[in-house]
Amino acid sequence: MLCGLRVLVTGGAGYVGSHVALRLLEAGAEVVVLDDLSTGHPWAVLGAPLVVADVGDRKRLRALLQSGRFDALVHLAARIWVGESVRDPDGYYLANAARAFLLFGEAARAGVRCVVHSSTAAVYGEPADGPLDEEAPLLPINPYGASKMMAERALADIARAHGQRYAILRYFNVAGADPEARIGEATPNNTHLIKVALEAALGLRPELAIHGTDYPTPDGTCIRDYIHVEDLAAAHVLALRALAEGERRLVLNCGYGRGFSVREVVDMVERVTGRRLPVVEGPRRAGDPAVLVAACQRIRDRLGWRPRFDDLAVIVATAWRWEQRLQARFGRRRRTR
Ligand code: UDP
Repeated sequence: MLCGLRVLVTGGAGYVGSHVALRLLEAGAEVVVLDDLSTGHPWAVLGAPLVVADVGDRKRLRALLQSGRFDALVHLAARIWVGESVRDPDGYYLANAARAFLLFGEAARAGVRCVVHSSTAAVYGEPADGPLDEEAPLLPINPYGASKMMAERALADIARAHGQRYAILRYFNVAGADPEARIGEATPNNTHLIKVALEAALGLRPELAIHGTDYPTPDGTCIRDYIHVEDLAAAHVLALRALAEGERRLVLNCGYGRGFSVREVVDMVERVTGRRLPVVEGPRRAGDPAVLVAACQRIRDRLGWRPRFDDLAVIVATAWRWEQRLQARFGRRRRTR
């Protein structure tokens, strides 16, 4: 599908990036991973060379881009925690916006023709009503979403100036793991709901706090559209193929178009693991919109994307299998690394 295409994947040692890199390899691409290992792991890079460097290190980046003769860039290296972004906004603007400006500019000047950029539903902010389509206004309500919106805009301008083709993939809530449990989410001090719930199920956390029970939703907790990481990785492969075949610009939501509340996710985790979770109800977390659900027709129409894991039970089951493997392999050390 992508035979011989030379692809640089930033953040390829991280959770989503490692799944994307693996699927690109399986599709026939020649992949090089660039990752500073701030949250990623060398063991997560399966079958591709790993260059350990910071995306913001212009000198090394330039040398890599010049020697690599890449056809495409898939940019996933980023900071991704909404709550942390509220506490450390400048860190987020530097990591997600400033570094992306630098990377996109260098890649364009090095002759990279296609760029796939990982963005987020957080660029939309607090949606007015119903599922969000890609034409919805971008009104982020936290620095994470704002930093990603800036990167999107910079990519559009840089790509236009240099005649590049690009795809922006707006991820909704990514979860699940490789069905063979070779790779999965292993970021230290992770604050994502399914990860936290599974760690609580394993006894690695004393409690699972529900962040807010007074939202204007049926059960009072926030609703999110959870997408399996494998389906998301497949979307990257398809987007890159479309660009390689001549598509100039794609802006696509990546979600299933259906939301689950925090309580529904907690129930599912209890069902899949067969364990009671130590749930406590807490206050709202700053920066959280009540509902984020994708309108996802466009990705189906434009890429022919057909999800294979659109089932919360499967998402949780694959994540649980991975979590148990991680526990067996690294034990308690892994949370504090
Ligand atoms: N959440 C929660 N407890 C946790 C982690 C998350 O109640 O320990 C809630 C969070 O407030 C949000 C939803 O779960 O409403 C999804 O949050 P997550 O951090 O997984 O993803 P986000 O939507 O922030 O990208």
